Amino acid sequence: MARSKIISDQVLPLGEFLIRVQVKVVRRLRLSIVRRERKIVMIVPNTMTVKQAMEWAQTQLPWLRATMKKYTAHDCITLAQSNDMEHVVLWGKKRDLKVDWRSGAGRYYIADEVVVLQMRPGTTTEQRQELLKRMMREELRRKATPIIKEWSDNLNLLEPRLFIQMMRTQWGSCNTYSGSIRLNSELAKYHPDCLEYVIVHELCHLVEPYHNEHFYELVQTCMPDWKKRRKALADYPEVKEE
Ligand SMILES: [Zn+2]
Repeated sequence: MARSKIISDQVLPLGEFLIRVQVKVVRRLRLSIVRRERKIVMIVPNTMTVKQAMEWAQTQLPWLRATMKKYTAHDCITLAQSNDMEHVVLWGKKRDLKVDWRSGAGRYYIADEVVVLQMRPGTTTEQRQELLKRMMREELRRKATPIIKEWSDNLNLLEPRLFIQMMRTQWGSCNTYSGSIRLNSELAKYHPDCLEYVIVHELCHLVEPYHNEHFYELVQTCMPDWKKRRKALADYPEVKEE
């Protein structure tokens, strides 16, 4: 049987989902989930409008939600590829990640159990990842700034400039000449105690650049439980599943 000709093909938001809407010369309106890719496709007969079809699809949302959830539970490996929901680890806590397609783009908000990214429909996965990375950097700066201020005061240092970036091998680094410290943006995934430990370590380097006895005495005095915090940083599940 010949495949029906596609008259129009677009991606539209439906509740929290994005669905592919194809108008074809067919008799029946059909809504289906492509299980493998967890995509929602609606085939609309050319005898009705897309608007009418979307109104009907709206009434199918409970079914879509239940089915998508069931599929997600079955193969959680592909969870991260799902368009509508993933998880994000922030400050040592795993939270649901939701995308709100209806409101202003490029913003986010963080509640206790959930992180909501506000994006325009049609936003790519890369753009979503970019927003997430920006959120991590901004969260880290927000949390790190008062800690740096407090410990700079304690150590009698001028408050250093803070740089945040993703680093492969280090949690932090410092430049004793320019008096700046650099923090790995991945720290936002761990408990804030770990962040404080890295900040204290780097600030102590502004006093003593080398990992010598003097340096460790200083760290020990500032933070008697630093070893516990360092271990937590090494042990933490990070992005691994709970
Ligand atoms: Zn060091």
